[in-house]
Amino acid sequence: MVRVRFAPSPTGYLHLGNARTALFNYIYAKHNNGKLILRIEDTDKERSKKEYEELLIDDLKWLGIEWDEGIDKGGEFAPYRQSERTEIYNQYIEKLKQSGHIYKCYCTPEELEEERKRALAEGRPPRYSGKCRNLSKEEQERLEKEGKSYVWRFRAPDGENIVFEDLIKGLVEINVNEFGDFVIVRSDGSPVYNFVVVIDDALMKITHVIRGEDHLSNTPKQILIYRALGFEVPKFAHLPIILGEDRSKLSKRHGAVSVRAFREEGYVSEAMFNGLALLGWHPKGDNEVLSKEDIISEFDIEDVHNAPAVFDRAKLKWLNGVYIREKLDLEDLTKRAIPFFEKFGYEADFEYYKKVMEIIRDSLETLNDIKDRAFPFFVEDYEIEENGKEFIQSETGKAVLKLFYEKVKDRENIDRNEFKKITKEIQKELKVKGKNLFMPIRVALTGKTSGVDMALLIEALGKERVLKRLERIFEFIS
Ligand code: GLU
Repeated sequence: MVRVRFAPSPTGYLHLGNARTALFNYIYAKHNNGKLILRIEDTDKERSKKEYEELLIDDLKWLGIEWDEGIDKGGEFAPYRQSERTEIYNQYIEKLKQSGHIYKCYCTPEELEEERKRALAEGRPPRYSGKCRNLSKEEQERLEKEGKSYVWRFRAPDGENIVFEDLIKGLVEINVNEFGDFVIVRSDGSPVYNFVVVIDDALMKITHVIRGEDHLSNTPKQILIYRALGFEVPKFAHLPIILGEDRSKLSKRHGAVSVRAFREEGYVSEAMFNGLALLGWHPKGDNEVLSKEDIISEFDIEDVHNAPAVFDRAKLKWLNGVYIREKLDLEDLTKRAIPFFEKFGYEADFEYYKKVMEIIRDSLETLNDIKDRAFPFFVEDYEIEENGKEFIQSETGKAVLKLFYEKVKDRENIDRNEFKKITKEIQKELKVKGKNLFMPIRVALTGKTSGVDMALLIEALGKERVLKRLERIFEFIS
Protein backbone atom coordinates (compact mmCIF):
# COMPACT_ATOMS: atom_id res chain seq x y z
CA MET A 1 0.00 0.00 0.00
CA VAL A 2 1.47 3.32 -1.12
CA ARG A 3 1.14 6.04 1.51
CA VAL A 4 2.45 9.50 0.68
CA ARG A 5 2.09 12.83 2.37
CA PHE A 6 2.09 16.52 1.65
CA ALA A 7 3.48 18.38 4.64
CA PRO A 8 3.30 22.14 4.17
CA SER A 9 4.23 24.75 6.73
CA PRO A 10 1.40 27.29 7.02
CA THR A 11 3.66 30.31 6.76
CA GLY A 12 2.36 31.86 3.55
CA TYR A 13 0.36 31.30 0.41
CA LEU A 14 0.64 28.00 -1.42
CA HIS A 15 3.23 28.71 -4.10
CA LEU A 16 3.83 26.87 -7.34
CA GLY A 17 6.66 24.75 -5.94
CA ASN A 18 4.63 23.43 -3.05
CA ALA A 19 1.53 23.03 -5.19
CA ARG A 20 3.57 20.91 -7.58
CA THR A 21 4.81 18.80 -4.65
CA ALA A 22 1.22 18.30 -3.46
CA LEU A 23 0.11 17.46 -6.96
CA PHE A 24 2.82 14.85 -7.60
CA ASN A 25 2.06 13.20 -4.27
CA TYR A 26 -1.63 13.14 -5.15
CA ILE A 27 -1.07 11.78 -8.64
CA TYR A 28 1.33 9.15 -7.38
CA ALA A 29 -1.11 8.04 -4.68
CA LYS A 30 -3.99 7.85 -7.17
CA HIS A 31 -1.92 6.07 -9.79
CA ASN A 32 -1.11 3.38 -7.24
CA ASN A 33 -4.43 3.25 -5.44
CA GLY A 34 -2.64 4.55 -2.41
CA LYS A 35 -3.39 7.18 0.18
CA LEU A 36 -2.44 10.82 0.50
CA ILE A 37 -2.01 12.33 3.95
CA LEU A 38 -2.13 16.07 4.60
CA ARG A 39 0.03 16.99 7.56
CA ILE A 40 0.57 20.50 8.80
CA GLU A 41 4.10 21.32 9.87
CA ASP A 42 3.45 24.24 12.16
CA THR A 43 6.30 23.93 14.63
CA ASP A 44 7.58 27.37 13.70
CA LYS A 45 5.27 29.18 16.09
CA GLU A 46 6.31 32.65 15.01
CA ARG A 47 5.58 32.21 11.33
CA SER A 48 2.75 29.65 11.30
CA LYS A 49 -0.72 31.12 10.99
CA LYS A 50 -4.10 29.48 11.17
CA GLU A 51 -5.39 31.62 8.31
CA TYR A 52 -2.62 30.35 6.02
CA GLU A 53 -3.63 26.82 6.92
CA GLU A 54 -7.18 27.56 5.81
CA LEU A 55 -6.08 29.25 2.60
CA LEU A 56 -3.80 26.34 1.87
CA ILE A 57 -6.62 23.84 2.20
CA ASP A 58 -8.83 25.99 0.04
CA ASP A 59 -6.20 26.23 -2.70
CA LEU A 60 -5.52 22.49 -2.63
CA LYS A 61 -9.22 21.71 -2.95
CA TRP A 62 -9.56 24.24 -5.73
CA LEU A 63 -6.74 22.50 -7.60
CA GLY A 64 -8.66 19.25 -7.36
CA ILE A 65 -6.29 17.60 -4.90
CA GLU A 66 -8.03 15.35 -2.39
CA TRP A 67 -6.48 13.62 0.58
CA ASP A 68 -7.52 10.60 2.57
CA GLU A 69 -6.26 11.54 6.00
CA GLY A 70 -5.32 14.87 7.45
CA ILE A 71 -6.04 17.81 9.68
CA ASP A 72 -9.61 18.40 8.55
CA LYS A 73 -10.39 14.74 7.99
CA GLY A 74 -8.83 12.86 10.86
CA GLY A 75 -7.55 9.33 10.40
CA GLU A 76 -5.87 6.47 12.12
CA PHE A 77 -2.69 8.39 12.83
CA ALA A 78 -4.16 11.65 14.13
CA PRO A 79 -3.35 14.29 15.15
CA TYR A 80 -2.02 15.55 11.82
CA ARG A 81 -0.87 18.92 13.06
CA GLN A 82 2.66 18.89 14.44
CA SER A 83 1.89 21.40 17.17
CA GLU A 84 -0.45 18.78 18.65
CA ARG A 85 2.12 15.99 18.67
CA THR A 86 4.55 17.24 21.31
CA GLU A 87 3.92 14.28 23.64
CA ILE A 88 4.72 11.83 20.87
CA TYR A 89 7.96 13.62 20.00
CA ASN A 90 9.02 13.72 23.63
CA GLN A 91 8.73 9.93 23.91
CA TYR A 92 11.13 9.47 21.02
CA ILE A 93 13.53 12.12 22.26
CA GLU A 94 13.60 10.14 25.49
CA LYS A 95 14.51 7.00 23.54
CA LEU A 96 17.41 8.73 21.83
CA LYS A 97 18.65 9.97 25.19
CA GLN A 98 18.50 6.45 26.63
CA SER A 99 20.32 4.92 23.71
CA GLY A 100 22.99 7.62 23.80
CA HIS A 101 22.34 8.76 20.24
CA ILE A 102 21.98 12.34 21.38
CA TYR A 103 24.04 14.41 23.79
CA LYS A 104 23.90 17.82 25.42
CA CYS A 105 25.85 20.62 23.76
CA TYR A 106 26.55 23.81 25.72
CA CYS A 107 28.31 25.80 23.04
CA THR A 108 26.97 29.33 22.70
CA PRO A 109 25.79 30.76 19.37
CA GLU A 110 28.84 33.04 19.44
CA GLU A 111 31.24 30.11 19.82
CA LEU A 112 29.51 28.25 16.99
CA GLU A 113 29.67 31.30 14.76
CA GLU A 114 33.42 31.58 15.45
CA GLU A 115 33.86 27.93 14.50
CA ARG A 116 31.82 28.39 11.36
CA LYS A 117 33.86 31.39 10.24
CA ARG A 118 37.11 29.59 10.88
CA ALA A 119 35.99 26.59 8.83
CA LEU A 120 34.92 28.77 5.93
CA ALA A 121 38.19 30.71 6.05
CA GLU A 122 40.11 27.44 5.90
CA GLY A 123 37.94 26.13 3.08
CA ARG A 124 36.32 23.35 5.13
CA PRO A 125 32.57 22.63 5.22
CA PRO A 126 31.37 24.27 8.43
CA ARG A 127 30.29 21.68 10.94
CA TYR A 128 30.18 21.25 14.66
CA SER A 129 33.57 20.42 16.18
CA GLY A 130 32.23 17.80 18.56
CA LYS A 131 33.48 19.76 21.56
CA CYS A 132 30.68 18.67 23.91
CA ARG A 133 30.46 15.12 22.59
CA ASN A 134 32.27 13.45 25.41
CA LEU A 135 31.70 15.68 28.41
CA SER A 136 31.61 13.81 31.71
CA LYS A 137 28.55 13.91 33.95
CA GLU A 138 30.48 16.15 36.35
CA GLU A 139 31.38 18.65 33.65
CA GLN A 140 27.79 18.78 32.48
CA GLU A 141 26.57 19.40 36.02
CA ARG A 142 29.13 22.14 36.52
CA LEU A 143 28.07 23.91 33.31
CA GLU A 144 24.42 23.68 34.24
CA LYS A 145 25.15 25.08 37.70
CA GLU A 146 26.73 28.04 35.95
CA GLY A 147 23.38 28.50 34.29
CA LYS A 148 24.45 27.37 30.81
CA SER A 149 21.68 26.29 28.52
CA TYR A 150 22.08 23.41 26.09
CA VAL A 151 20.74 21.82 22.93
CA TRP A 152 20.65 18.10 22.15
CA ARG A 153 22.82 16.97 19.27
CA PHE A 154 22.76 13.76 17.31
CA ARG A 155 25.97 11.78 17.46
CA ALA A 156 26.62 11.30 13.75
CA PRO A 157 28.95 8.43 12.74
CA ASP A 158 32.20 10.15 11.69
CA GLY A 159 33.15 9.79 8.07
CA GLU A 160 30.32 7.45 7.15
CA ASN A 161 28.86 7.62 3.67
CA ILE A 162 25.08 7.72 3.74
CA VAL A 163 23.85 6.18 0.52
CA PHE A 164 20.31 5.97 -0.74
CA GLU A 165 18.55 5.36 -4.00
CA ASP A 166 16.39 8.34 -4.84
CA LEU A 167 13.60 7.51 -7.27
CA ILE A 168 14.34 10.66 -9.28
CA LYS A 169 17.94 11.60 -8.48
CA GLY A 170 19.30 8.07 -8.64
CA LEU A 171 22.04 7.00 -6.25
CA VAL A 172 22.77 9.73 -3.72
CA GLU A 173 25.81 9.59 -1.52
CA ILE A 174 26.49 12.14 1.19
CA ASN A 175 29.28 11.88 3.72
CA VAL A 176 28.44 12.54 7.35
CA ASN A 177 31.48 14.80 7.58
CA GLU A 178 29.69 17.28 5.37
CA PHE A 179 27.33 18.12 8.22
CA GLY A 180 28.59 16.54 11.47
CA ASP A 181 26.64 16.30 14.74
CA PHE A 182 23.35 18.11 14.20
CA VAL A 183 20.83 19.61 16.60
CA ILE A 184 17.74 17.56 17.45
CA VAL A 185 16.27 19.59 20.32
CA ARG A 186 16.67 23.35 20.65
CA SER A 187 17.59 25.04 23.92
CA ASP A 188 13.90 25.83 24.56
CA GLY A 189 13.14 22.10 24.43
CA SER A 190 11.47 22.13 21.01
CA PRO A 191 12.51 19.47 18.50
CA VAL A 192 13.70 20.46 15.01
CA TYR A 193 12.17 19.67 11.62
CA ASN A 194 14.61 16.87 10.74
CA PHE A 195 13.56 14.99 13.84
CA VAL A 196 9.79 15.49 13.87
CA VAL A 197 9.48 14.74 10.17
CA VAL A 198 11.03 11.31 10.75
CA ILE A 199 8.78 10.51 13.70
CA ASP A 200 5.70 11.54 11.74
CA ASP A 201 6.62 9.79 8.52
CA ALA A 202 7.49 6.61 10.40
CA LEU A 203 4.41 6.55 12.63
CA MET A 204 2.11 7.52 9.76
CA LYS A 205 3.58 4.62 7.78
CA ILE A 206 4.66 6.77 4.87
CA THR A 207 6.13 4.59 2.13
CA HIS A 208 7.34 7.29 -0.27
CA VAL A 209 8.61 10.73 0.68
CA ILE A 210 8.06 12.93 -2.37
CA ARG A 211 9.22 16.51 -1.85
CA GLY A 212 11.29 19.34 -3.25
CA GLU A 213 14.96 18.98 -4.05
CA ASP A 214 15.77 21.58 -1.41
CA HIS A 215 15.30 18.80 1.14
CA LEU A 216 17.88 16.48 -0.42
CA SER A 217 20.58 17.58 2.00
CA ASN A 218 18.28 16.87 4.97
CA THR A 219 17.76 13.29 3.90
CA PRO A 220 20.99 11.73 5.27
CA LYS A 221 20.29 13.26 8.68
CA GLN A 222 16.80 11.85 8.59
CA ILE A 223 18.10 8.44 7.58
CA LEU A 224 20.39 8.44 10.61
CA ILE A 225 17.40 9.12 12.85
CA TYR A 226 15.33 6.36 11.24
CA ARG A 227 18.17 3.97 11.90
CA ALA A 228 18.74 5.10 15.47
CA LEU A 229 15.09 4.45 16.31
CA GLY A 230 14.88 1.19 14.39
CA PHE A 231 12.32 2.53 11.91
CA GLU A 232 12.11 1.34 8.36
CA VAL A 233 13.50 3.96 5.96
CA PRO A 234 10.93 5.03 3.31
CA LYS A 235 11.73 5.55 -0.36
CA PHE A 236 12.67 9.10 -1.34
CA ALA A 237 11.85 11.05 -4.47
CA HIS A 238 13.18 14.60 -4.70
CA LEU A 239 11.46 16.75 -7.28
CA PRO A 240 13.60 19.05 -9.43
CA ILE A 241 13.91 22.68 -8.49
CA ILE A 242 11.69 25.12 -10.42
CA LEU A 243 13.42 27.95 -12.26
CA GLY A 244 12.15 31.10 -13.88
CA GLU A 245 12.80 31.70 -17.55
CA ASP A 246 16.07 33.46 -16.71
CA ARG A 247 17.15 30.19 -15.06
CA SER A 248 17.29 31.60 -11.55
CA LYS A 249 15.23 30.03 -8.78
CA LEU A 250 11.56 30.87 -9.30
CA SER A 251 10.56 33.70 -7.00
CA LYS A 252 8.29 36.71 -6.73
CA ARG A 253 10.66 38.58 -8.99
CA HIS A 254 9.28 36.46 -11.82
CA GLY A 255 5.70 37.60 -11.24
CA ALA A 256 2.84 35.73 -9.61
CA VAL A 257 4.04 32.55 -7.93
CA SER A 258 1.20 31.71 -5.56
CA VAL A 259 -1.72 29.56 -6.61
CA ARG A 260 -3.99 32.22 -5.19
CA ALA A 261 -2.54 34.89 -7.46
CA PHE A 262 -3.18 32.69 -10.48
CA ARG A 263 -6.73 32.07 -9.30
CA GLU A 264 -7.28 35.79 -8.97
CA GLU A 265 -5.88 36.39 -12.44
CA GLY A 266 -8.49 34.03 -13.82
CA TYR A 267 -6.71 30.77 -14.31
CA VAL A 268 -8.97 27.73 -14.21
CA SER A 269 -8.05 24.84 -11.96
CA GLU A 270 -7.85 22.25 -14.74
CA ALA A 271 -5.23 24.32 -16.55
CA MET A 272 -3.29 24.82 -13.32
CA PHE A 273 -3.40 21.10 -12.61
CA ASN A 274 -2.24 20.31 -16.11
CA GLY A 275 0.44 23.01 -16.06
CA LEU A 276 1.83 21.98 -12.68
CA ALA A 277 2.06 18.35 -13.78
CA LEU A 278 4.32 19.45 -16.63
CA LEU A 279 6.83 20.96 -14.20
CA GLY A 280 9.34 18.16 -14.28
CA TRP A 281 7.29 15.54 -16.03
CA HIS A 282 6.26 14.97 -19.62
CA PRO A 283 3.70 12.63 -21.13
CA LYS A 284 4.93 10.06 -23.62
CA GLY A 285 3.06 11.51 -26.59
CA ASP A 286 3.13 15.02 -28.02
CA ASN A 287 -0.19 16.10 -26.59
CA GLU A 288 0.39 18.16 -23.48
CA VAL A 289 -3.24 19.01 -22.84
CA LEU A 290 -4.20 16.27 -20.45
CA SER A 291 -7.05 15.81 -18.05
CA LYS A 292 -6.50 14.85 -14.43
CA GLU A 293 -7.51 11.28 -15.25
CA ASP A 294 -5.06 11.07 -18.18
CA ILE A 295 -2.27 12.38 -16.02
CA ILE A 296 -3.02 9.98 -13.19
CA SER A 297 -3.04 7.00 -15.49
CA GLU A 298 0.13 7.96 -17.35
CA PHE A 299 2.24 9.33 -14.49
CA ASP A 300 5.11 7.50 -12.91
CA ILE A 301 7.44 9.03 -10.37
CA GLU A 302 10.44 7.47 -12.05
CA ASP A 303 9.70 9.43 -15.21
CA VAL A 304 10.13 12.72 -13.40
CA HIS A 305 13.16 14.52 -14.80
CA ASN A 306 16.26 15.07 -12.77
CA ALA A 307 17.06 18.36 -14.50
CA PRO A 308 15.53 21.63 -13.21
CA ALA A 309 12.04 22.45 -14.43
CA VAL A 310 11.67 25.83 -16.10
CA PHE A 311 8.36 27.51 -15.45
CA ASP A 312 6.97 28.73 -18.76
CA ARG A 313 4.39 31.37 -17.94
CA ALA A 314 3.32 31.85 -21.54
CA LYS A 315 2.64 28.16 -21.90
CA LEU A 316 0.48 28.07 -18.79
CA LYS A 317 -1.49 30.98 -20.18
CA TRP A 318 -1.89 29.21 -23.47
CA LEU A 319 -3.08 26.07 -21.66
CA ASN A 320 -5.57 28.16 -19.71
CA GLY A 321 -6.94 29.53 -22.97
CA VAL A 322 -7.36 26.01 -24.32
CA TYR A 323 -9.41 25.00 -21.26
CA ILE A 324 -11.53 28.15 -21.44
CA ARG A 325 -12.16 27.88 -25.17
CA GLU A 326 -12.47 24.16 -25.69
CA LYS A 327 -12.61 22.05 -22.60
CA LEU A 328 -15.08 23.48 -20.15
CA ASP A 329 -18.79 23.20 -20.52
CA LEU A 330 -20.44 26.61 -21.06
CA GLU A 331 -22.67 26.45 -18.00
CA ASP A 332 -19.74 25.56 -15.76
CA LEU A 333 -17.47 28.14 -17.35
CA THR A 334 -20.13 30.81 -16.83
CA LYS A 335 -20.42 29.96 -13.14
CA ARG A 336 -16.69 30.36 -12.74
CA ALA A 337 -16.75 33.62 -14.70
CA ILE A 338 -19.41 35.30 -12.54
CA PRO A 339 -17.01 36.49 -9.80
CA PHE A 340 -14.96 38.12 -12.56
CA PHE A 341 -17.96 39.85 -14.16
CA GLU A 342 -18.85 41.10 -10.70
CA LYS A 343 -15.32 42.21 -9.97
CA PHE A 344 -15.45 44.43 -13.06
CA GLY A 345 -18.87 45.77 -12.14
CA TYR A 346 -20.69 43.98 -14.97
CA GLU A 347 -24.15 43.19 -13.56
CA ALA A 348 -26.59 40.87 -15.32
CA ASP A 349 -28.53 37.65 -14.86
CA PHE A 350 -27.11 34.21 -15.45
CA GLU A 351 -28.59 33.81 -18.92
CA TYR A 352 -27.03 37.03 -20.14
CA TYR A 353 -23.66 36.11 -18.62
CA LYS A 354 -23.91 32.79 -20.36
CA LYS A 355 -24.71 34.39 -23.71
CA VAL A 356 -21.75 36.74 -23.32
CA MET A 357 -19.43 33.89 -22.39
CA GLU A 358 -20.55 31.91 -25.39
CA ILE A 359 -19.57 34.83 -27.60
CA ILE A 360 -16.31 35.89 -25.98
CA ARG A 361 -14.83 32.63 -24.68
CA ASP A 362 -12.83 32.16 -27.88
CA SER A 363 -10.97 35.36 -27.24
CA LEU A 364 -10.09 34.73 -23.59
CA GLU A 365 -6.82 33.48 -22.18
CA THR A 366 -7.69 34.19 -18.58
CA LEU A 367 -10.97 35.14 -16.94
CA ASN A 368 -9.43 38.53 -16.24
CA ASP A 369 -9.65 39.16 -19.98
CA ILE A 370 -13.40 39.42 -19.40
CA LYS A 371 -12.78 43.01 -18.37
CA ASP A 372 -11.98 44.12 -21.92
CA ARG A 373 -13.77 41.49 -23.94
CA ALA A 374 -17.11 41.83 -22.17
CA PHE A 375 -16.95 45.61 -21.94
CA PRO A 376 -19.24 46.28 -24.96
CA PHE A 377 -21.90 43.98 -23.50
CA PHE A 378 -22.21 45.98 -20.29
CA VAL A 379 -21.05 49.56 -20.54
CA GLU A 380 -23.28 52.21 -22.13
CA ASP A 381 -21.28 55.38 -21.57
CA TYR A 382 -18.15 54.30 -23.39
CA GLU A 383 -15.81 56.79 -24.94
CA ILE A 384 -14.91 56.88 -28.59
CA GLU A 385 -11.37 55.83 -29.29
CA GLU A 386 -9.35 58.57 -31.02
CA ASN A 387 -8.80 56.76 -34.31
CA GLY A 388 -12.44 55.68 -34.39
CA LYS A 389 -13.82 59.22 -34.50
CA GLU A 390 -13.37 59.75 -38.26
CA PHE A 391 -15.59 56.74 -38.98
CA ILE A 392 -18.60 58.21 -37.24
CA GLN A 393 -17.96 61.85 -38.11
CA SER A 394 -17.45 61.48 -41.86
CA GLU A 395 -20.40 62.08 -44.15
CA THR A 396 -20.55 58.43 -45.21
CA GLY A 397 -20.32 57.32 -41.61
CA LYS A 398 -23.17 59.55 -40.55
CA ALA A 399 -25.32 58.37 -43.45
CA VAL A 400 -24.66 54.72 -42.62
CA LEU A 401 -25.56 55.26 -38.98
CA LYS A 402 -28.75 57.17 -39.77
CA LEU A 403 -29.98 54.47 -42.12
CA PHE A 404 -28.91 51.71 -39.76
CA TYR A 405 -30.88 53.38 -36.98
CA GLU A 406 -34.04 53.64 -39.13
CA LYS A 407 -33.84 50.01 -40.15
CA VAL A 408 -33.30 48.71 -36.63
CA LYS A 409 -36.17 50.84 -35.42
CA ASP A 410 -38.48 49.36 -38.07
CA ARG A 411 -37.73 45.83 -37.06
CA GLU A 412 -39.66 43.99 -34.36
CA ASN A 413 -36.37 42.76 -32.96
CA ILE A 414 -32.86 42.26 -34.11
CA ASP A 415 -30.67 39.18 -34.18
CA ARG A 416 -27.58 38.12 -36.09
CA ASN A 417 -29.55 37.33 -39.27
CA GLU A 418 -31.48 40.57 -39.24
CA PHE A 419 -28.21 42.40 -38.78
CA LYS A 420 -26.82 40.73 -41.89
CA LYS A 421 -29.92 41.60 -43.87
CA ILE A 422 -29.79 45.21 -42.74
CA THR A 423 -26.16 45.65 -43.70
CA LYS A 424 -26.87 44.15 -47.12
CA GLU A 425 -29.69 46.63 -47.63
CA ILE A 426 -27.51 49.56 -46.59
CA GLN A 427 -24.80 48.38 -48.93
CA LYS A 428 -27.25 48.46 -51.83
CA GLU A 429 -28.94 51.69 -50.95
CA LEU A 430 -25.87 53.77 -50.08
CA LYS A 431 -23.34 51.95 -52.23
CA VAL A 432 -20.91 51.55 -49.38
CA LYS A 433 -19.21 48.37 -48.34
CA GLY A 434 -16.46 46.86 -46.19
CA LYS A 435 -14.77 49.17 -43.75
CA ASN A 436 -16.90 52.15 -44.72
CA LEU A 437 -20.01 50.22 -43.87
CA PHE A 438 -18.97 48.23 -40.82
CA MET A 439 -16.61 50.59 -39.01
CA PRO A 440 -19.16 53.31 -38.31
CA ILE A 441 -21.47 50.73 -36.75
CA ARG A 442 -18.71 49.14 -34.71
CA VAL A 443 -17.34 52.43 -33.47
CA ALA A 444 -20.80 53.77 -32.71
CA LEU A 445 -21.84 50.72 -30.72
CA THR A 446 -18.59 49.96 -28.92
CA GLY A 447 -16.39 53.06 -29.14
CA LYS A 448 -13.62 50.91 -30.60
CA THR A 449 -12.28 50.02 -34.02
CA SER A 450 -11.82 46.33 -33.25
CA GLY A 451 -13.19 43.64 -30.99
CA VAL A 452 -16.17 41.41 -30.73
CA ASP A 453 -18.26 40.07 -33.64
CA MET A 454 -20.87 42.78 -34.29
CA ALA A 455 -23.72 40.48 -35.27
CA LEU A 456 -23.39 38.61 -31.99
CA LEU A 457 -23.01 41.75 -29.92
CA ILE A 458 -26.09 43.29 -31.48
CA GLU A 459 -28.09 40.12 -30.93
CA ALA A 460 -27.08 40.07 -27.27
CA LEU A 461 -27.84 43.78 -26.76
CA GLY A 462 -31.23 43.65 -28.44
CA LYS A 463 -33.09 46.37 -30.28
CA GLU A 464 -33.65 48.90 -27.48
CA ARG A 465 -30.08 49.03 -26.28
CA VAL A 466 -28.78 49.34 -29.83
CA LEU A 467 -31.11 52.27 -30.49
CA LYS A 468 -30.15 53.98 -27.23
CA ARG A 469 -26.46 53.66 -27.99
CA LEU A 470 -26.97 55.15 -31.45
CA GLU A 471 -29.02 58.04 -30.05
CA ARG A 472 -26.21 58.89 -27.66
CA ILE A 473 -23.74 58.85 -30.54
CA PHE A 474 -25.96 61.10 -32.66
CA GLU A 475 -25.80 63.74 -29.95
CA PHE A 476 -22.08 63.42 -29.99
CA ILE A 477 -21.66 63.79 -33.78
CA SER A 478 -24.38 66.26 -34.67
N1 GLU B 1 7.33 21.43 5.97
C1 GLU B 1 8.33 21.10 5.00
C2 GLU B 1 8.29 22.11 3.87
O1 GLU B 1 7.28 22.78 3.71
C3 GLU B 1 8.09 19.71 4.46
C4 GLU B 1 9.32 19.01 4.16
C5 GLU B 1 9.12 17.56 3.83
O2 GLU B 1 8.28 17.28 2.96
O3 GLU B 1 9.78 16.72 4.43
O4 GLU B 1 9.25 22.28 3.17
